[in-house]
Amino acid sequence: MKTSAAQPSNTGFPHRHLLGIEGLKPAEITLLLDLAESYVEQNRQPDKKRAVLRGRTLINLFFETSTRTRTSFELAAKRMGADVINISVGDSAIKKGETLLDTAMTLNAMHPDVLVVRTPFSGAVNLLSQKVNGAVVNAGDGSHEHPTQALLDALTIRRRLGRLQGLTVAICGDISHSRVARSNVHLLNTMGARVRVVAPPTLLPGPFARLGVECFTDMRKGLEGCDIVMMLRLQSERMQGAYVPSVHEYFRFWGLDYEKLETAKPDALIMHPGPMNRGVEIDSEVADDLGRSLIREQVEMGVAVRMACLDVLTRNLAPANGGAA
Ligand code: ASP
Repeated sequence: MKTSAAQPSNTGFPHRHLLGIEGLKPAEITLLLDLAESYVEQNRQPDKKRAVLRGRTLINLFFETSTRTRTSFELAAKRMGADVINISVGDSAIKKGETLLDTAMTLNAMHPDVLVVRTPFSGAVNLLSQKVNGAVVNAGDGSHEHPTQALLDALTIRRRLGRLQGLTVAICGDISHSRVARSNVHLLNTMGARVRVVAPPTLLPGPFARLGVECFTDMRKGLEGCDIVMMLRLQSERMQGAYVPSVHEYFRFWGLDYEKLETAKPDALIMHPGPMNRGVEIDSEVADDLGRSLIREQVEMGVAVRMACLDVLTRNLAPANGGAA
């Protein structure tokens, strides 16, 4: 079980940390999505502030670049009344040779309630969570998991199509190096969707088939009759050597354009976690197609989902006021 050690809790989410989607139960995922729904409405009001996290401290500890995830955790925590500190690799002692674990222990001594951690090392967030006192949220660990991305994707789909169960979702692109793919496969499988992965043979790891997904190397076949097309970026920062002949060839065979999209359902929706590389994995026109692209909506849902996660995880901690009712 990769999610966390169970904690006594009456929140319906018996986990101290959110380290991955693997191991979460359908009811726990539904609880987070339902709670996030209420935050979507709050975020659309002129007054977006609540005191749910008053007295709490959140540290964003990012050892990889991030735009959407870091900003939305910061916004989420601030809208809920928490104090937020952002630390990135450039301004941390990691630059001076300190290990990730020592940095985390240093921060732990300052009593943060929540540590949001992104690292290039798969499994490192799990290790770190065993050493600190607060709740830990995995904001992406190497090519392992990115749980809040899968939750925001699920919320986006559920709001648009009313369900996850029974939908056919094609996840396309660099499956090998994508934590987004892994978290989405776990979530969509758990919630009863049919999942396909579509990739060049060099970017489609064998063990994926064991996760209960259908594997395709032909994009048109992989998209046949699907409801959702989820595109992924080539994660060149995790590649040693060339996995595709050229960007031009890659787009020709695996880039999403209207022609390849024709085999999907006529109203199939398009998603992308960002950052997008236009003309590499997705054609600009398709990405900007307001009738079919959910990419902007995914970003909006990111804030609401992170609010829901922070809400539930901090309710599982000791009260901020030291125990008073
Ligand atoms: N933003 C996502 C991640 O951090 C996807 C990507 O970088 O391609 O995994």
